[in-house]
Amino acid sequence: MAQPTELDSSAISQLPINERIEWLVARERQFAASYQSAEAYLARNLYHAKHPTAVLALKCMDGRLNLALATNTPVGIIEPFRSIGGRFDLGWPYFGEVMSVEVQQMTRQGRRTLILINYHYSKGDRSRGCAGWNYDTDASRAGAQLLKRQLDEMFGAHHQTVYPLVCGFETDDDALILHGQNNEVLDMSSLDSEDLESMPAILARLYPDMPHMIQQDLLPIVQGNFHHIEKVRRMTRTLDIVHHEWMIALGRGFSWLHMANQALIIGPWGPELAPPIHTAAAIVQSNMKDKRIPDDGMVLFSVAPYVELGIDRARAEQKARFLSRFGAEIIRADFPDLSKKLHIRSAVLSWPTMQMDLLENGQA
Ligand SMILES: [Zn+2]
Repeated sequence: MAQPTELDSSAISQLPINERIEWLVARERQFAASYQSAEAYLARNLYHAKHPTAVLALKCMDGRLNLALATNTPVGIIEPFRSIGGRFDLGWPYFGEVMSVEVQQMTRQGRRTLILINYHYSKGDRSRGCAGWNYDTDASRAGAQLLKRQLDEMFGAHHQTVYPLVCGFETDDDALILHGQNNEVLDMSSLDSEDLESMPAILARLYPDMPHMIQQDLLPIVQGNFHHIEKVRRMTRTLDIVHHEWMIALGRGFSWLHMANQALIIGPWGPELAPPIHTAAAIVQSNMKDKRIPDDGMVLFSVAPYVELGIDRARAEQKARFLSRFGAEIIRADFPDLSKKLHIRSAVLSWPTMQMDLLENGQA
């Protein structure tokens, strides 16, 4: 029999709930082991030495948006920030704080920051687009452009240190759609291998105000995307989305969970956590009712990351436990039947090693 970690997405969602929980924990362990391996460690360090620009990606929680995979970039280089629909507002107290701290840390290390603002859609079928924007691509693109203006206001419109860049993601081909400074749009799936050689000139034309160093560090990302698109076209992929989410993931540090339609990931960014938890629980409940998943249980999984031992880790434990308690209270109040099937797990995750530790008394 295949190991649970080797099963595909739809097979996992049909396992008994205890086996799904075992699969989760095993998947994180595997991810951490691979992240900690000598090979991966050296690949990240080599990449950083060659391409010092820090790369952040603001994007939808949709599991199809895997930028490391879609750009052939080592895991851990592009730092993801996820929310439903990729909606963010720099005025949100926690989100604005984290962005400010990230950029200042990079600047002190002498590094510039490239911020990819993703929206996503499918060229083949509108209903494979972004549910977080009711499949309205124009609205989601406008949302990304509004966020770029906020970043310009906060970090400077001359972009010498921080460069926010609106970048669509077309999920049928996994193609990046680059929005240039002068409204020119470049669909990476429209290029052929001859264009690839002139990519440095193309980036200079799209982003005339981009510092040379950032252009050089954006280059391997778009080249990687070109090669990934070629690979995708040779594959047979199931594009249709079957909703079989059975888990609500609350907090940060879910890179290991990258798999479509298993979990609804809710970041702690916005000032209101209750409405997205309610929406996510309603989706899980309808998945059970419509028999897309077994009705033996669902998982609420809260994770809080930390960098240092001591206070930082102790605070992460408090945060993870709070998120579990908070989420469980909403599910109990709004979905009493569903809450009888609720399995709660809380964990902390070390950013430097990606090692996750489950907290005892996980039942809030
Ligand atoms: Zn989306």
